[in-house]
Parts: sequence; structure tokens; C-alpha cells
Amino acid sequence: MAKRTIWQRLKYKNIAIALAILLILIILIVNSCSKNEDVPDDSNDNLPQTSVDNTEPEVPEPVVFEKYDMITVSSEEIGKGYLVLVNNNTVYNTQVDEDSLSIVGQAKTGRYPVKDYTVLLDNSIIAPLDEMMKGFLEATNLNTVMILSGYRTYEKQQELYNDELESTGQDSSTLVAKPGYSEHHTGLAIDFKVYNTDGTYQDFDGTGDYVWFSDNSYKYGFINRYPADKTAITMIDNEPWHFRYVGIPHATAMKKNGLCLEEYVDLLKNYTVDTGFFEVSDDSGTEYRIYYVAGGDESTNIPIPLKENGQPYEYTYSGNNVDGFIVTVTMN
Ligand SMILES: [Zn+2]
Repeated sequence: MAKRTIWQRLKYKNIAIALAILLILIILIVNSCSKNEDVPDDSNDNLPQTSVDNTEPEVPEPVVFEKYDMITVSSEEIGKGYLVLVNNNTVYNTQVDEDSLSIVGQAKTGRYPVKDYTVLLDNSIIAPLDEMMKGFLEATNLNTVMILSGYRTYEKQQELYNDELESTGQDSSTLVAKPGYSEHHTGLAIDFKVYNTDGTYQDFDGTGDYVWFSDNSYKYGFINRYPADKTAITMIDNEPWHFRYVGIPHATAMKKNGLCLEEYVDLLKNYTVDTGFFEVSDDSGTEYRIYYVAGGDESTNIPIPLKENGQPYEYTYSGNNVDGFIVTVTMN
């Protein structure tokens, strides 16, 4: 056997080294590729690895409407509608028409107590309130939830505010809003109280059987307006007794996304005719597309989508009491 020269030996050694380096590189590349497919969250390291799905992800059809009609509304309507935001920073300047209010004790059809005939609410929310109270009665066999308070004038709110300051000795309150800054001025807000069968009263604390309301009110268009986990945003203490009507699509959207009204009104500004719609389905399967239209100085043109036959979709709009309008289109 011929002896290899030193040069031949070196050549074989170099090839072996080169092959080893190549092998290490391949291992490193393969390794790093498979790492990228892992879930980058440490907490998932122990989970069984799912096989890589090579099928294209299903991209939802972009929502577009072909044609719009324009309606023009005056800018003072920014203060009207079910989505008006009223809080410690957002005054409610809208003059509520007395004809739009009803005496709840007279207008209601449900079996639930109302404090007295001074309790007024916006005409249009008595029927959903009746429905909600019927739902509660069916679920719990209780009709102990009393309507304590509804619409309030500025004078009434001033009285309550003064009483609160007097009783606490503070010069401001996180429990009673200043006059002009209470959503009770809208006729869309309700305070509950529990009226026991023995004739005694207690605060509605939303616990026990009464959890039903925070769980189900959205199905009727009402939200628990000042929940405990949103006090930093609402700037109002937890008020389990205070409910606000916003309509079923919006109450559903807020409930399902864990948003309070401040957050929701803010979020909707990202959804416009140009950028795309906020979509929500209510529990009965009705689909809605929701979008924001910035308010103009004196009037605002609101685009309303048209069906293929040229007829407008069913829609509603509401001012947000800040800077524009929210349009809600019913799709089916
Ligand atoms: Zn209230």
C-alpha cells in the first residue's frame, strides 16, 4: 500500500474539518428554523408541539360597501343618541325634550316596583327595561328590583351633589356626579334598589341572584356602567346599581370585549368608512357593522351604505357627545 504523502494527509484532514463545519452549520440552521415555528412564550414550552399547518389561513373577506348615500345632520346632534358619553370630563349640554320622557310607573308593562311617579326615563328604553325585568323574573322568580332613579334635571343633581358633600365633608365626590356631568340627565340611566317583600329596602349590590344583571343586561341593551375594574377610567366608584342603555349591539360589543363606555367610544374612532368597520353579532345572530364619522363644525355628512338594489341598509346613528357620530348598520 502506497504511503500517503504529508500533503495528501493534510488534504484529507482539511476536507474532514470542512465537512464537520458544514454539518454543524446545517444543524444550527435547521435548529433555528424549527425554533421560529415554536410558540415564543416560555410558558408553552411544556405543551405538546402541534404539527405545522401548511394550509393558508382563512382571511376574512374585507368588508366593503359599494355605494353610500349621504345624510346631513346638525352638529348639535353629537349630544344625542344612545352612545352619548357623559362623565366627569364630558358635560351633557343637550336639552332633553320632555315629550321624550315617560313616567316609568305608568308606562311599564313588566311586574317590577318603581319608587314613585317622579321616576322618568327616555320613552324608547321602557320596552327594553320591561324585557330585562321579565328576563330576571323568569330566571330568579324575584321581582324585588325597584327602579329608584332615572332621568334627573340639573337642579335635582345639584341637590344630590350638595347632600353628598354635606354628608361626607369632602369638596368633591366620586359617587355623585356634578350637575351637567351625570348620565342621569340623558334619561338613559337607571339606578336600582332592592325592595324586599317585607317592605324594607337595601342597596342593589349586584351579588347573589342579582349577578344576573351584570351577566345578562347586555342582551337587552343595558350595561353596568361603573364596574369595579374600570374605576380608574370612569372616575366613578363601583356602582353595581347603575345601568345605562346603549342598545343591544353596543352593549354586546362592550360586554364581549370587556370595555367600559369611555374605552368603547374611544376604540370606535379607529373604525371608519375608509379604514374598515367594527363588527359584532348579538346573541340572536344579528350582525352589525359599526363605524365612526368625525363631526363637522356646523353640520356633518354621514355616509349610509346602500344595498345592491340601491336601498339603504337598516341603520341608526348616535352622537358620542365628544366629537362625532357612531353609525350602526344592521346586516341581516
Ligand atoms: Zn346612577
